[in-house]
Formats: sequence, C-alpha cells, structure tokens
Amino acid sequence: MHAPEVLISEDDIQKRVTELAQKISADYSDTGDLVMVGVLKGSFIFLADLSRNLSIPRTIEFIAVSSYGDSSAPSGAVRLVMDVRGNIEGKDVLIVEDIVDTGHTLKYLIGIMKSHRPASVKTAVLVRKADSAKVDVTIDYLGFDIGNEWVVGYGLDFAEQNRTLPYIGIIDPTDR
Ligand code: 5GP
Repeated sequence: MHAPEVLISEDDIQKRVTELAQKISADYSDTGDLVMVGVLKGSFIFLADLSRNLSIPRTIEFIAVSSYGDSSAPSGAVRLVMDVRGNIEGKDVLIVEDIVDTGHTLKYLIGIMKSHRPASVKTAVLVRKADSAKVDVTIDYLGFDIGNEWVVGYGLDFAEQNRTLPYIGIIDPTDR
C-alpha cells in the first residue's frame, strides 16, 4: 500500500488551526464558559491542536455517533453512541468535528447539544466536502473546503488506518 497522496500539508494544517484558534479565542473572550465537544473518533487530533492554541479558558468533552450501516434505514440516519459526561447546561458549546460531507451528522449533533440547554452552540470543522450543500447546517469555523474524494490523516481514517498521519491525504481507491 502506497502512502496517501498529500492534499493538505502538515504546515498548512498547523497554520490554519492556529488562525482558527485565534478567532475562537477572540470570539469567546467575554463568555468564560467554553466547552469544546469533540466528535469521536476523527476529531481527536484537531481538537487537541485547536484547544492547545486557544488563549482562553476551556473544558473538553467528547461525544460519539455512528451512522446506520443498514440499507433499510434512510440515508444519513445517525445514532448517538456516547453523550457528553459533564453538565453543559448554560455553557457555550463548540462542537469540534473532523469532516462534513452531507451535513446530516453535524445537524444531528447540533440537535443533541441543544437538548442539553447550553447558552450557545457553534461548530468548528476541519474539512468540508463539496456535497455539504445538501443539508442546511452552519459551520462557524471552517478549516478547508475539499472535493468529494475520500481523505485520511490528522484524525481521519479509512478502515481505522492512517488516522495519525500528520497531513490530510487522498487514498487511491485502486490501492485500498
Ligand atoms: P455526513 O453526515 O456529513 O454525510 O458525514 C460525516 C461523516 O462521514 C464524518 O463524520 C466521517 O465519519 C465520514 N466521512 C465522510 N467523508 C469522509 C472522508 O473523506 N474521510 C473519512 N475518514 N471520513 C469521512
């Protein structure tokens, strides 16, 4: 198996994550109750780098979802596997997600977070695929727009492989 072709370099990711962290730090400087909610597993590296670059106080929670692989379920159906552990009522929630494709997952997550009655819910997404226009969902902090290819690295996997690559790469479909 060949190494995935580089789509977004390590340097470009680090530069963009730093920029996003500066913007988030400025936007939340007066609130004081920021909770970053990482979506397992894919967001763990993005969440780590983003949170370490913030200049404001923040706490960390995780949530896990899985898509229904069942063909009888409507496309885009999402299931909650693990909810946040801490009490996020009245706090400012920032959902941290690795990738948005159709947007179904992020839309579902925003609903789950709102059911906990936080003060606010915003979203930070590392990469958005070209298909995302299908669902009306707001991304407040976006890293990069990409095409519809399958990407791996920086937390993203293909069959659990390549999550810890420092860059975002494209898998050659003939090489899977
Ligand atoms: P959506 O609900 O937006 O269609 O799908 C989002 C989910 O699909 C992501 O959380 C991720 O698990 C998966 N996904 C979509 N495209 C990719 C991709 O190119 N690479 C990886 N690793 N996961 C993807």
